[in-house]
Amino acid sequence: MTETPHKFQAEVSKLLDIVAHSLYSHKEIFLRELISNASDACDRLRYAALTQADLMADGADLTVTITPDKKARTLTIADSGIGMNQGDLIENLGTIARSGTAEFMTRLSGDAKKDVSLIGQFGVGFYSAFMVADQVVVISRKAGESLGWRWSSDGRGEFTVDPHPGAARGACLILHLKEGEDEFLEPHRLRHIVTTYSDHIAIPVVLKDGDKRETLNAASALWTRSKSDITPEQYKEFYHHVGHAFDDPWLTLHYRAEGAIEYTGLLFIPTVKPFDLFHPDRKNHVKLYVKRVFIADDGAGLLPPYLRFLKGVVDSADLPLNISREMLQHNPVLAKIRSGLVKRILSELAKKAQEAPEDYLAFWANFGAVLKEGLYEDAEKKDEILELCRFAATGHDRPISLAQYVAGMREGQTAIYTITGDSAEAALRSPQLEGFKARGLAVLLLTDPIDEFWVRAIGVYKDKPFKAVTEAGADLDSLARTDQAESEKPDAERDRKIVDLVRVMKEALGDSVKDVRRSERLTESPVCLVADEGEMSLHLERLMRQHRQMATAIPRILEINPGHPLIAKLAERAREDGAATNLADTCLLLLDQARLIEGETLPDPAAFARRLNALMLTLG
Ligand code: ADP
Ligand code: MG
Repeated sequence: MTETPHKFQAEVSKLLDIVAHSLYSHKEIFLRELISNASDACDRLRYAALTQADLMADGADLTVTITPDKKARTLTIADSGIGMNQGDLIENLGTIARSGTAEFMTRLSGDAKKDVSLIGQFGVGFYSAFMVADQVVVISRKAGESLGWRWSSDGRGEFTVDPHPGAARGACLILHLKEGEDEFLEPHRLRHIVTTYSDHIAIPVVLKDGDKRETLNAASALWTRSKSDITPEQYKEFYHHVGHAFDDPWLTLHYRAEGAIEYTGLLFIPTVKPFDLFHPDRKNHVKLYVKRVFIADDGAGLLPPYLRFLKGVVDSADLPLNISREMLQHNPVLAKIRSGLVKRILSELAKKAQEAPEDYLAFWANFGAVLKEGLYEDAEKKDEILELCRFAATGHDRPISLAQYVAGMREGQTAIYTITGDSAEAALRSPQLEGFKARGLAVLLLTDPIDEFWVRAIGVYKDKPFKAVTEAGADLDSLARTDQAESEKPDAERDRKIVDLVRVMKEALGDSVKDVRRSERLTESPVCLVADEGEMSLHLERLMRQHRQMATAIPRILEINPGHPLIAKLAERAREDGAATNLADTCLLLLDQARLIEGETLPDPAAFARRLNALMLTLG
């Protein structure tokens, strides 16, 4: 009896459509994907059996067997791993459960060419079978269960799942090959594909050709082999398998730690930023093995979250095998391995930054925002991490280190100036920067949300305090301008008028500002908004409101530029009777202007439009 068919999740249907009709090159990678899954399934069974020996009661042999059948035009890939029951089949082979998928799907454009290259970065795993097959059947029995199941689909929107008594433990995939894909029935072709892409797989991959059985791969864990025996291609293929990745590794780090605690690490840093990098679970992706037995996908706390961009494996013989995950997380040996790994990784990054600065910037663009989390999460390593940081800065066309910033500081400059914003472009537009530019003072453009937090936590770099430009107005008084305006003469009369204007503006603006004051930092714009000393920055406030952590805006300080013609004109009128009333609309327009430039939304856009319209009417 066949049940009603299940529908693929809409995203899967979309994906399958592209897989079946638009992916033409490197079709052979479907085999790598399926062998990779089979190997994962065997790893997971071996781990589960550590605490539940009877899971392997029906045979301890873990293998992948590939069987081409020229008559039936099928290719069968069978493993004796953990298998899937009815629920697993529906969940795993009907949806894309991986985190980051939603993000990935929103990027699909519908333009086949672009989408294909995107899929190249994301990978389609199991669904790649539909590149070469128009019918895929999965017969599977989960270890420890007695009933098997049969999943079947032609990849067009639906699949069926029915009971299948007599199934062997593990999963058996039968691919009914499409017309024209007969090359995947040829033993020499299969042999070539497996040795190219799957040699590193730690369990035997066996080709069954009639009565002949031939093991195609080396079947020893790659990380246990000596470096000199491993080609870059083999490292890359292993990275693809272990990291579920599809790019080239940006960094490959393979080493054996010897001494009190021994372990082997084979670690990779991707070239392409993964979609799930900012997933809230902040899970790490280095797999933990103990004596070559897979223990945990996420390393059980092997790496701190700020190094979650690393992929790979760590294998140690010094950890106990029969130990629960919870116990493992508190194991002192694991803690030592962890600190050894962190040390090694940071020093490797420092080396790259030194030896290949250009290349390092590519890494930084992808993962800098994650690494910076370590600045406030790892008190012990924060100084080391700080040296690894790179920042966009005014006056520099490429990101600089703090050491470079300090080396370029002006005589008399005591602080490292920063500005926060949603992007470098937005930050650069800020009028706050004008006074710093005029004085040749570089300002770091901090554009990652995380920057709001670590700067506060760290406070100083080599005795130099970080100081937001919004709070550093006073510093500017003591530093002479380096542009032409330097020769500006003091003007007592003008200054008195500005004092009057400040008073009038305060009266007109009331509670919507904390204060009004004349500005040293402005050279071109008439006004800007700044935070008071010690107050939360405007950018942070905006972030908090976006995340609904804050309901109302804090009143800010409005600074006015005495040198701006508009301000000068208003100052002329500041002594008139009823100036506060007469100038009220203009003052409110200036405040709204300052808000807009900051990237704020206006509290009352309709009133803004009304005032602007009234002003335009006066233009005739
Ligand atoms: P990924 O391997 O990145 O998780 P796949 O699309 O390749 O994504 O596979 C989806 C899921 O299906 C796997 O995570 C696994 O749970 C399950 N799966 C696939 N192949 C097998 C298999 N041979 N045995 C057991 N489970 C499998
Ligand atoms: Mg997979």
